Amino acid sequence: MAETVLRHDWSRAEVSALFALPFNELLHRAHTVHREHHDPNAVQVSTLLSIKTGGCPEDCAYCPQAARYDTGVAAQKLMDVDDVLERARAARAAGASRFCMGAAWRGPKDRDIPKVAAIVRAVKDLGLETCATLGLLGDGHAQQLKDAGLDYYNHNIDTAPEFYGEIIHTREYQDRLVTLEQVRDAGLKTCCGGIVGMGETREQRAGLLQALANLPEHPQSVPINQLVPVPGTPLGDAEPLDPFEFVRAIAVARILMPLSIVRLSAGRQQMDDAVQALCFFAGAGSIFYGEKLLTTGNPDVEADRALFRRLDLHPMDVVESAGTVHADIGEGESCGQGCGCSAAA
Ligand code: SF4
Repeated sequence: MAETVLRHDWSRAEVSALFALPFNELLHRAHTVHREHHDPNAVQVSTLLSIKTGGCPEDCAYCPQAARYDTGVAAQKLMDVDDVLERARAARAAGASRFCMGAAWRGPKDRDIPKVAAIVRAVKDLGLETCATLGLLGDGHAQQLKDAGLDYYNHNIDTAPEFYGEIIHTREYQDRLVTLEQVRDAGLKTCCGGIVGMGETREQRAGLLQALANLPEHPQSVPINQLVPVPGTPLGDAEPLDPFEFVRAIAVARILMPLSIVRLSAGRQQMDDAVQALCFFAGAGSIFYGEKLLTTGNPDVEADRALFRRLDLHPMDVVESAGTVHADIGEGESCGQGCGCSAAA
């Protein structure tokens, strides 16, 4: 097999041209890339737990955990280690290979890190891969989490750089990139993706995927979320995205970042089984398992098991490396939207 060349210089025109391909042509190309590097019948399964819910000072327009929006999400303190462990054991018993923990913070304070590190250590000792999404990291935080046994850090760039200011006003796009750099420098694997269906144009969806693909390293895990409109948030009345446009986004992500695991993330509950099957064909190789994504709904475990049976899919085992043929990777994330923050991804 020819060596795969990973590109980090995609132009917007190139990415837009992929989006504009006839649907069947795009899916054929994406599936061909997927088969070259991944087992097309294996899906990495993660479970996501909100370890600190609500009360977030940020203003992400999609997020029910922002304190400023009246969404009925009650603020809770950071969970105790034992309570998290109980949930992690249940996730492992249900077949999850990775346990993702989200906290609704702008970012952790120095005093929070030892508490989160203790949680990470305990979950890792169960034999699960670990992922955390805690928001913007401060100096030394990524290394401390790595030392505690963290495998992945989730931090999404959310949307195209030019659309970011329409969605979030309390931090800059560049802040995201700085945290991602800290995560890479600490030797953690990155989980980084975004949300579609927030009123952006197709060109802006192309911009999101272009920005992800042109990061210094492709994220090992790329969650593509479909907005779950939550009443009380500024995007509570957002128009639903055409499901085929969502499938196109999965396919383009697959082509741009061939070794990454593309995760079908938030919004699955709103998709019918046929759309999910198209997403798997287009290159999605990971899902969240469990009835809740932080604070928004997710298909229940039995429904997912039935879907796997009908599609002859099987869950991946825990593995460490991304990008080898038939390898399994995974990743983690946050807020019910996969936003990349702390409680949303
Ligand atoms: S997405 Fe994360 S950072 Fe944004 S408001 Fe929600 S919890 Fe806070």
